[in-house]
Amino acid sequence: MEHSRPSLPLPMVLWRGFTGRCPHCGQGRVLFAYLRVMPHCLSCGEKLGHIRADDGPAYFTLFAVAHVVVPGALWVEQAWSPPLAPFVAATMAAALMLIGILLPAFKGATVALMWRLRLKGDEHQGDGLPSD
Ligand SMILES: [Zn+2]
Repeated sequence: MEHSRPSLPLPMVLWRGFTGRCPHCGQGRVLFAYLRVMPHCLSCGEKLGHIRADDGPAYFTLFAVAHVVVPGALWVEQAWSPPLAPFVAATMAAALMLIGILLPAFKGATVALMWRLRLKGDEHQGDGLPSD
């Protein structure tokens, strides 16, 4: 069966998702209520709500945050040797803030990637067709 979806460049699709925009048109939003996937794009009508990102966005977010916060904390500790309790509190606050910012971005990018690859996140994926 021929699909009407254009074969958009992968970097553009990922960027649209990362910035919270619809992977198809780049205008509508991909998420609402922080992390919920829009049932369909309010701008172009593309169906998005059937895509299940599962734990992917959490893995990507923790991978990115750990690679920023841990080296940053080690550098600060070596440079200034701050008192332990405020240092741990500030490090945890920085990590939580980054997680809060990056989690919806990585969720949008994951949904956009799955949309581009025509994956749905269930055991009937790959053909891009409804499973029933
Ligand atoms: Zn759209």
